[in-house]
Amino acid sequence: MLYENLKDFTGKTCPCGKDHNVFVPELCIKNGAINEMPFFIEKFGAKKAFIIADENTYRAAGKKVCDILKKKAFQFVEYVISGTIKPDEYTVGRVVLHFVNDCDIIIAVGSGVINDTGKILSAIAKIPYIIVATAPSMDGYASKSSSVDVDGLKVSLSSRCADVIIGDLEVLKNAPLKMLKAGLGDMLAKYISIAEWRIAREIVGEYYCEEIAKLVRTALKKCIDNAKGLLERDETAVKAVFEGLVLCGIAMSFAGLSRPASGVEHYFSHIWDMRGLEFGSKTELHGLQCAVATLIAAGLYENIAKVTPSEKKALDFVSDFNYGAWSKKLSSFLGGAANIMIANERIEKKYDKEKHAERLRNIIDKWDVILKIVREEIPERKKILKILRFIKAPETPEELGIDCDLFTTFEATKDIRDKYVLSRLTWDLGIMEEVETWL
Ligand SMILES: [Zn+2]
Ligand SMILES: [Zn+2]
Repeated sequence: MLYENLKDFTGKTCPCGKDHNVFVPELCIKNGAINEMPFFIEKFGAKKAFIIADENTYRAAGKKVCDILKKKAFQFVEYVISGTIKPDEYTVGRVVLHFVNDCDIIIAVGSGVINDTGKILSAIAKIPYIIVATAPSMDGYASKSSSVDVDGLKVSLSSRCADVIIGDLEVLKNAPLKMLKAGLGDMLAKYISIAEWRIAREIVGEYYCEEIAKLVRTALKKCIDNAKGLLERDETAVKAVFEGLVLCGIAMSFAGLSRPASGVEHYFSHIWDMRGLEFGSKTELHGLQCAVATLIAAGLYENIAKVTPSEKKALDFVSDFNYGAWSKKLSSFLGGAANIMIANERIEKKYDKEKHAERLRNIIDKWDVILKIVREEIPERKKILKILRFIKAPETPEELGIDCDLFTTFEATKDIRDKYVLSRLTWDLGIMEEVETWL
């Protein structure tokens, strides 16, 4: 089992220089894993549970959790959130208001929004937290932050990692098919994220850990090897995706960065989500968006492989670049969300000409190494397309229902934060115009 590999990380210094001594949640993935619930509750010495679910997840597994606790005569209070829930202040507020003070353990039953909310509540209440996963749809199960919309902006709030993650295969395999596909989509993104992590090390000297990268690659390979069974809800396929997603969350805590699991493809998805919040435009499940963006990024990297960097071209492009004009375009494309990016640029100085010249020297010196990384980590676009076709997942932004300009989306990905991704590389090379023709 992949989870066993995590033991290699504890108690010794890694070749990367870090000791990766971070909290790793207990994981129980098997058929009937929910039945282990009393064991975990007793382990924490808890006396009364606060159970959070929504109407769908209550049907999928919440009721079963309650039945098990009733049978054991264990005290609990349940709060089933009604209606369609969003990851925002309103949902968090509802849960906090319904929380009963003498509860000493939180059990959340669900996936993205429910888990993000449960993590926040457990951080506020400072009590243990168990997540009963209902879908292998995203990699936030093992992370200690929550993605929430605050004042209309998507932010990553520091919350708390689950103490126990319960993945009952009987529940997970019966999740909506769309969520199973999204889970695999979020895993596909790791082809790009690992490549960009290595590239960032070469160009901007970013910290990198090969052991963590290996862990993620192994998890991803397992998902791909078993992908054919996903549509039939095959247990091995579902297990590989769930385990892979949990592992990627842990890999991010090991690294102390999102690098092992998120690259430019995640930024495409973030931009679409930001526009959704700002303008009410359509968005899709995170993993489905990431899958489409992974396909786009793989195609762009194929074009990058044909580029010969030109120092003159890059320097001329950067000297002509007008940040004022660009920030105006960014504001009209993203609305209020652009303000933070523009404010960050004042501190980060990503567009500083001297910093650019320094990066460009590294890019030109190490171009062969960069291309080798692309070859080693990113499969051909057609291989990714084949996987998406096989699982009948959306292949284009249009199929996701997203209709904003793709090139502007790409351009905007370089401003999200100071993280070196493909769009930063193409800007550094002075080839943004070419990229427009590649999309
Ligand atoms: Zn390491
Ligand atoms: Zn993700």
